[in-house]
Amino acid sequence: SVDKERANNVAKIKVVVRKRPLNKKEMAKKEEDIITTEPNSNFLTVHETKLKVDLTEYVEKHEFVFDAVLSEDVSNTAVYSETVEPIVPLIFNRTKATCFAYGQTGKCGKTYTMQPLPLKASQDILSLMHHTYRNQGFQLFVSFFEIYGGKLFDLLNDRKKLCMREDGKQQVCIVGLQEYRVSNVEMIKEFIEIGNTTRSTGTTGANEESSRSHAILQLCIKRSADGTESKPARLVGKLSFIDLAGSERGADTTDNDKQTRMEGAEINKSLLALKECIRALDNDQGHIPFRGSKLTEVLRDSFVGDSRTVMISCISPSSGSCEHTLNTLRYADRVK
Ligand code: ADP
Ligand code: MG
Repeated sequence: SVDKERANNVAKIKVVVRKRPLNKKEMAKKEEDIITTEPNSNFLTVHETKLKVDLTEYVEKHEFVFDAVLSEDVSNTAVYSETVEPIVPLIFNRTKATCFAYGQTGKCGKTYTMQPLPLKASQDILSLMHHTYRNQGFQLFVSFFEIYGGKLFDLLNDRKKLCMREDGKQQVCIVGLQEYRVSNVEMIKEFIEIGNTTRSTGTTGANEESSRSHAILQLCIKRSADGTESKPARLVGKLSFIDLAGSERGADTTDNDKQTRMEGAEINKSLLALKECIRALDNDQGHIPFRGSKLTEVLRDSFVGDSRTVMISCISPSSGSCEHTLNTLRYADRVK
């Protein structure tokens, strides 16, 4: 069928790198852009300045290839077209898809990249529901929660603490998670805004702390058995957007503060577990190690069956971030 053919043409796993422009602070510090990309190419080179034993400088080049490399002049709209847009039609046909933003905190553009995506996706979903799938009983729902220190909090319900349960059929259920039905773009916009505000200003959520949590926004498509709205709707497909905790936070395991250290260990564990799960998916291994962390357990149902995964690795171009950038690129390289 046409649907099947289209689904087969969308890669199961896609790893994309997005480089942001140098910012004013970096320019003021005379930091340099050390990342070169070429137009219409998926190559990227990091030019790392190193010191010899006699303290003279030399440049070591690190070359990488990804599914796509998006340079500093690529717009958010183009990022959407490259990553999520091709997946949207598939979720009407039982696909579960996940889009991650990975990278260092406060510098690389994870939130800047991730925030517009669910809105654009819901615009397309609603448009498909109103045209291609008109009167077929499809409904769109949104939920938004975060994983902080291994615990779940509802960002659309005043940070209510949530727990997770698994039914016999490998379905993950987050008990008490608020799901809101949305029928137009204005509604979805409002829910996204509420969630973002709750994330950055809630009880535990000073801005600093938002970098220590994974924020998960899910769009679910449901449909009742007979295609009308008289019977309860069942899940058809799902699209999850995940603004991951700062990758360097995993390194906080040496911090003197016990709480910070524990959070760092938790983040480390979840980012490692995520990498392992994506690799297992890529190798078509029967066994996906989701039990490695809360993050991967929550995503369990999105890793089985007809799934799609997009990893957007965000990097700063600046010489001052070279080490973090190389770590981010190596992580992305391992995922691929
Ligand atoms: P992160 O979420 O990874 O900590 P942010 O998304 O908050 O980082 O980005 C840090 C700053 O850089 C923000 O002020 C953001 O507006 C800016 N920024 C990030 N990416 C880009 C980009 N591609 N183009 C322009 N500005 C960007
Ligand atoms: Mg952020």
